[in-house]
Amino acid sequence: MYRAKVNHMSDQAPISRARDVRSEETLLSEGGKRAREILESITDAFFALDRSWRFTYANRQSYTLLGRQPGDLLGHNIWEQYPGLYGSEFEHVYRDAMDRHQERTVTAFFPDHDRWYEVRTYPSDEGIAVYFRNVTDQKRGEEDRARLAAIVDSSEDAIISKSLDGVIQSWNAGAERLFEYTAGEAVGRSITLIIPAERLDEERSIIARIRQGERVEPFETVRRTKSGRLIDISITVSPVRGGDGNVIAASKVARDITERKRADEALREVDRKKDEFIALLAHELRNPLAPIRNGLQVLRMADDRASRDRVREMMDRQLSHMVRLVDDLLDVSRINQNKMELRRSRVLLADVIASAVETARPQIDDAGHDLTVSMPGSPVYLDADLTRLAQVFSNLLTNSAKYTERGGQIWLSTERRGTDVAVTVRDTGIGIPAESLGHIFDMFSQVDRSVERSTGGLGIGLALVKGLVEMHGGTVTVASEGQGKGSAFTVTLPVLVDRPAFPVASPAAGQAAARPKRHILVVDDNRDGAESLAMMLGLMGNKVGTANDGLAAVEQAEALRPEVILMDVGMPRLNGLEATRRIREQPWGKGITIIAQTGWGQDDDKQRSREAGCDGHLIKPVDLQDLEQLLVELDRK
Ligand code: ADP
Repeated sequence: MYRAKVNHMSDQAPISRARDVRSEETLLSEGGKRAREILESITDAFFALDRSWRFTYANRQSYTLLGRQPGDLLGHNIWEQYPGLYGSEFEHVYRDAMDRHQERTVTAFFPDHDRWYEVRTYPSDEGIAVYFRNVTDQKRGEEDRARLAAIVDSSEDAIISKSLDGVIQSWNAGAERLFEYTAGEAVGRSITLIIPAERLDEERSIIARIRQGERVEPFETVRRTKSGRLIDISITVSPVRGGDGNVIAASKVARDITERKRADEALREVDRKKDEFIALLAHELRNPLAPIRNGLQVLRMADDRASRDRVREMMDRQLSHMVRLVDDLLDVSRINQNKMELRRSRVLLADVIASAVETARPQIDDAGHDLTVSMPGSPVYLDADLTRLAQVFSNLLTNSAKYTERGGQIWLSTERRGTDVAVTVRDTGIGIPAESLGHIFDMFSQVDRSVERSTGGLGIGLALVKGLVEMHGGTVTVASEGQGKGSAFTVTLPVLVDRPAFPVASPAAGQAAARPKRHILVVDDNRDGAESLAMMLGLMGNKVGTANDGLAAVEQAEALRPEVILMDVGMPRLNGLEATRRIREQPWGKGITIIAQTGWGQDDDKQRSREAGCDGHLIKPVDLQDLEQLLVELDRK
């Protein structure tokens, strides 16, 4: 756009009227006089030039606009007065009019006046007349409209306007994206284009409110796209008023909330699963309690050794089951919080599998399944945590045992695949429906079918498998042709470069032979816990004392001077960590082996007990083998 530069102007330019009027009178005809009166009164500028480019007339507005006094213009040559015009668009326009008799129009902005003028030339035989019409308002309106249109067009939201009888009048790019109709397809059609039939009433009530001049606050609803998809949107509708203040249309802003809805739904789903899980957890933890309680009763009443032994075995089994559940839970939560640590070393895949089979064997045999294991010809080494990896395969094997009807077949096969090894656990079991395959490894995910309720489980086994496998740099996949067609889980792990194994002495063999008898103090505020552990340790030949709070622990330690203290952490009066600190402060307390025993095995718990002066840390319920192993390790130090 051409931007005119106009010299300084003066609003109250003094006008020497006498001389002007005289010269004008000689130049204008009678009819022209009337025209002059009109021209003087208008707010637009108007001037005339003769064929020698001299001003022959200029109305009052011209002087203001051109920044001159009348005496400076009339009779003077325009190019001499305004040399800046040379080369400007005005020069072309004026010359086209003067030389070629062409009427021309140009719109220009006059910065000094902050106004837009439409400049129009009228050629005649005497010269040209030039008319400056102030079009600032119109121009600003256009600019505003363009700005608004740009905003509307760049909006992510769909912005639509419609008449009060529901005919679409405008449709922005956001609406094109959201509803898939182009503006060309939508404008002129009824808004019912995007309204599902069952929601037409909604539209009628919106229009009724808009007619009343009411704004319809954001509400959530559903609309249909061109391809027939139903989408969740949030809509705000506002009345559009005409110049007279009457409502003439409605403008509607619609926002896609499908994503938010999906996120809400996902949150609700997680919440629901968690609730379900807690119920299941309570159930699963309570299940072993009944047989254990019955067992206790039997122990109290039965006096033949055979039934007592049988019951003890049963109780042991139930307790192990419970401990396993709780361990799994802790493991999953550790993996989820990135707190699981692997103790990796060079291990033989065959050892991993053997350990897994040993764990799963009782369940496989109980269900009368047949297990076939096939290993690769040459040894495969992995950089892995043997116990954790064995846990992966024992989980898969026990699942196969659980989810296969009695007398089924289970295969565990291994296959080298380049630098990886793939281990597949396959069964002839109940299979997994296709729709469940995608989320079977999610936490708390269980296929909903009645058979599982009886087999039990928390739906975390496979989440644990996946977490552990991924920590080992591997992947796990599942395949099943559907209900009743069996399942196959394949774990792929990177193989360590093969090299011959070096012989390692088995530490377990040496230990069992010479288990030393010790003087042990068991500290636990749970009297039964302390008592039963003390009894077991006593039965194994140790000399054992007990204490049931921290203060008693310090006193007993001083009186008994044990070699080992098994110290509970959370206790009344004085907690175990504080008691440990006090014992360590004493000259007699420095050499005692103090082992913390807690329900929590997280890393920071271990860190805290170490800082308090404990030599080791065991998770309750204390497993005697773990305790023995730990004591042997501590002895070696
Ligand atoms: P849980 O066994 O405690 O329910 P998992 O995470 O181990 O939990 O398994 C999740 C679900 O996957 C099981 O509830 C079961 O529906 C299904 N599933 C796992 N392994 C098998 C299998 N071998 N055959 C059929 N379904 C299985």
